[in-house]
Amino acid sequence: MENSGQKFDVIVIGAGIMGSSTAYQIAKRGHKTLLLEQFDFLHHRGSSHGESRTIRATYPEPYYVKMVIESYKLWEEAESEIGYRVLYKAQQFDMGPAEDKCLQAVIANCRSESIPHQVLNRHQVSEKFPGELPENWIGVWSELGGVIKPSKAVSMFQTLAIQRGAVLKDNSKVSDIRRDGASGEILVATANGKSFLGKKCVVTVGAWMKNLVKLVTGLVLPIQPIEATVCYWRVKEGYEAHFTIANGFPTFASHGQPHIYGTPSLEYPGLVKIAVHGGYPCDPDKRGWGPGISLDSLRKWVEERFAGLVDPNGPVAKQSCMYSMTPDEDFVIDYLGGEFGKDVVIAGGFSGHGFKMGPLVGKLLADLALDGEAHGVEMSHFRMNRAQCSKTLDLVRTFTASELELTPAGHDTVNPGTVLKLSRSTKSNLRSMNTSNETHGVVRIGVDDGEDDLDG
Ligand SMILES: Cc1cc2nc3c(=O)[nH]c(=O)nc-3n(C[C@H](O)[C@H](O)[C@H](O)COP(=O)(O)OP(=O)(O)OC[C@H]3O[C@@H](n4cnc5c(N)ncnc54)[C@H](O)[C@@H]3O)c2cc1C
Repeated sequence: MENSGQKFDVIVIGAGIMGSSTAYQIAKRGHKTLLLEQFDFLHHRGSSHGESRTIRATYPEPYYVKMVIESYKLWEEAESEIGYRVLYKAQQFDMGPAEDKCLQAVIANCRSESIPHQVLNRHQVSEKFPGELPENWIGVWSELGGVIKPSKAVSMFQTLAIQRGAVLKDNSKVSDIRRDGASGEILVATANGKSFLGKKCVVTVGAWMKNLVKLVTGLVLPIQPIEATVCYWRVKEGYEAHFTIANGFPTFASHGQPHIYGTPSLEYPGLVKIAVHGGYPCDPDKRGWGPGISLDSLRKWVEERFAGLVDPNGPVAKQSCMYSMTPDEDFVIDYLGGEFGKDVVIAGGFSGHGFKMGPLVGKLLADLALDGEAHGVEMSHFRMNRAQCSKTLDLVRTFTASELELTPAGHDTVNPGTVLKLSRSTKSNLRSMNTSNETHGVVRIGVDDGEDDLDG
């Protein structure tokens, strides 16, 4: 019962990486802060748990490049404050077809942001990377890569928040957010019968964002939870050292379809993380915990890239996690508006690539809640009413037969309920959709190359 009914300057809802770093930022600025989490702290049912997340500056969008550069500094600041490491620096290696638009934009951004990098042909790649590249592929070797330990990082921000005086409460599922008639402040009620008042409220509930915002306002945000699977593969005996950061093995991304990413052998010696960026639409409260992603294309990729070095028969360990996808894969960071005006801020839709920017997002959310505006970052990309979000509101979550039958000639054919396989080109396809026709967008978001069978 302690703290029930108490007043806070800011109430933060959801203790993943975004909520935990926000609580830290707000408490650090001297404000009375409450962080509420529906499950136990550091649970494994959201998006911020586990052993590794990639940090890389190799984005095709220039604004994310700037945000990653800033985040890198903020990770280091937090590490020096807590006194231990959560980020293990590495090189980043992007590979893909030479003509891939995304990869070309990555190279252009490395140049314009002065990120040390080298563009390598497949023969030059073999001097740095143990894998094999196809004939027409290139590689981009860059600085500012690395592995972040997610559970440890969340715990770090929670500890730092407590040290700065924040109150943290888990097993406190928020069931209502409303403006209190008497005080005019924001009343946050939990399912276990408690309520708290805050001058401001920040909502960072990950894959539950759409449900909570709908419950509170009736507004349906285009944020689709999907269940993703992380896979660990066994490095063949005698080659383990090739896959360590100490020996120069990078964090990596393979562009094109399927979009594959991986991290060096770190958390489980002798295993390397190689996974597909994608998964199945899910209900965060009724998870399937499987059957897991299709592994055929991933097995093929492992066999072709790491022939003789990694056992391609299948992953030896898997971990399930949730992405919160927006139609254009840009985040949603905005005021909730309506009766809440600027007193409630929401941040979600991190689309499988938000962790690395957690410390910066926390800072921006503290700015929005406390100062009425964010500093140093152009926020228009993240507004909830941006064109890509509002125009595609139904598309990401509506994979009906009739829509998918409208597949235009010459484009991929897909079936309802298909696996969402995401690519960095999704956004450009959506942009073209907004100026042409909507069916095009449905097809591209839900594209399944049809080669894979479901695993398990
Ligand atoms: C498999 C996988 C790999 C990824 N790889 C990378 C990567 O390499 N690099 C990268 O940058 N990003 C990566 N990401 C994305 C990144 O992990 C997420 O963007 C990030 O963790 C999202 O954090 P969050 O705080 O928004 O959500 P969450 O961590 O899910 O936190 C939201 C919290 O809110 C709580 N909550 C929900 N509803 C309520 C309620 N009503 N009341 C109280 N609490 C509530 C939830 O229980 C949860 O703890 C990956 C994600 C996955 C799943």
